[in-house]
Amino acid sequence: MDVDKRLGYYLNTLCENDMIGSDMEKRTHIKNTVESVGSIVTVMGWVDSRRDHGSLIFLDIRDSTGIVQAVVSPKSEDAYSHAKHIREEWVLKITGAVKKRPDAMVNDDIATGTVEMQVTTLEVLGVSKTPPFPLHTDGLDIDEESRLRYRFIDLRRQRMQNNIRLRSEFIHRVRSLLFDNDFVEIETPLLTQSTPEGARDFVVPSRLQPGSFYALPQSPQQYKQLLMVAGFERYFQIARCLRDEDLRADRAFEHSQIDMEMSFMDEEAIRAFDEDLITRVYEAMGATIKEKPFPVFSYQEAMEQFGADKFDLRTEEEKREGILAFAWVVDFPFFEKKDDGKWTFTHNPFSMPKHEHIDFVLEEKRLDEVVAHQYDLVCNGYEIGSGSIRSHHPNITRSVFSILGYTEEHIEEQFGHMLEAFSFGAPPHGGIAHGIERLMMLITNEQYLREVQAFPQTSSGRTAVMNAPAPLSHDQLDELKVNVNTEDEKER
Ligand code: ASP
Repeated sequence: MDVDKRLGYYLNTLCENDMIGSDMEKRTHIKNTVESVGSIVTVMGWVDSRRDHGSLIFLDIRDSTGIVQAVVSPKSEDAYSHAKHIREEWVLKITGAVKKRPDAMVNDDIATGTVEMQVTTLEVLGVSKTPPFPLHTDGLDIDEESRLRYRFIDLRRQRMQNNIRLRSEFIHRVRSLLFDNDFVEIETPLLTQSTPEGARDFVVPSRLQPGSFYALPQSPQQYKQLLMVAGFERYFQIARCLRDEDLRADRAFEHSQIDMEMSFMDEEAIRAFDEDLITRVYEAMGATIKEKPFPVFSYQEAMEQFGADKFDLRTEEEKREGILAFAWVVDFPFFEKKDDGKWTFTHNPFSMPKHEHIDFVLEEKRLDEVVAHQYDLVCNGYEIGSGSIRSHHPNITRSVFSILGYTEEHIEEQFGHMLEAFSFGAPPHGGIAHGIERLMMLITNEQYLREVQAFPQTSSGRTAVMNAPAPLSHDQLDELKVNVNTEDEKER
């Protein structure tokens, strides 16, 4: 999709709705200066660029709605003497008359290109050191460490403003469609017990129970199923998921999911609902979808045709045009054998086996033939969603964990609460979760997940701007009763 056009869209839609407390800001949004010819306005914003032509100083002032040219002449003595010292990225409040620019001077690159402000007063609200890197480029050639250390400045560049605002719009659209369809937004705990999603957990030591640890959720999987048992029927959450796994261009320690769960719906109904949601949101944002309804491939067909369960259905030309080629992959094998000969689950241990394979699971036989009610949504080579119909019968779930090699005690200890919940009248249910960053990479044409997250980690797993991970003080460690056994510890 044409990202520049999207910014144009933003500039036009921003500020159009009734604003709450609009008297609060005694300023004109820069976008609106274009309608203020002949009036005196006050704008506030950053110096996007400054050109000193000796007799006149030109300042391009930027706020979140646009950029306007301001002209400071020696006639406004005070403002002019300030303007002599001002540099890029300083924050200013300027007041002046809005004038139409002569036809020959119109700047077609910006929405306010037909006007300029004749500055009468100028106040410096914040000075800026010289930015550590240029902000007028896409920034992709600047080293990652520096961009993330100064992320608060890096985010000022137009591409990043676009990406983060698009993400906000995307989530807003998803939320409103889900609310319109009777979904309830429910937050689930961050300090919790491990839930198997195939990655390592991040853990948090407990002060009150020394030696015990919380796990940060790899997904809200178990809680959303418990919410179905609790009778909510349609749940969603914009959920943060934390997974300690190897970092890649499209994988981070933290990502967000549109996490959904629905009761009394079968696989086809859930997929149809989700397809409608995804189609509406993407199309409302100007995307073109290659094929509707989305084609469906069985896992086996996908492996035979593409050699993988995620694939790109676009032609070279469609790639250039930014078309989105969605497809479902269904009928995944439930189990696969690990190198050590033990069984593991391919997607989600809480899934329901296909009806005809339930007995195989209960009797723990012919496990390589068991197909799960599991579905993935893929688009342009990425897996962008994954879900399943869940088993809501305690005996099936118990059998699955037994197949995975869990002892009776271990099952009770780790999943007893699920089995117990399922024994109190669990409705048939299923759901899906979409990784928001990957969804956004599709719409922004970005190749790296960090380009659609405000504060991503570096590729070595350090936080943006702030210094984490970092050692704890001895006092903190003592309080947590945690002993750290590294060489560095001695130096603390
Ligand atoms: N919990 C799954 C995941 O994070 C998604 C789902 O089955 O709803 O991939």
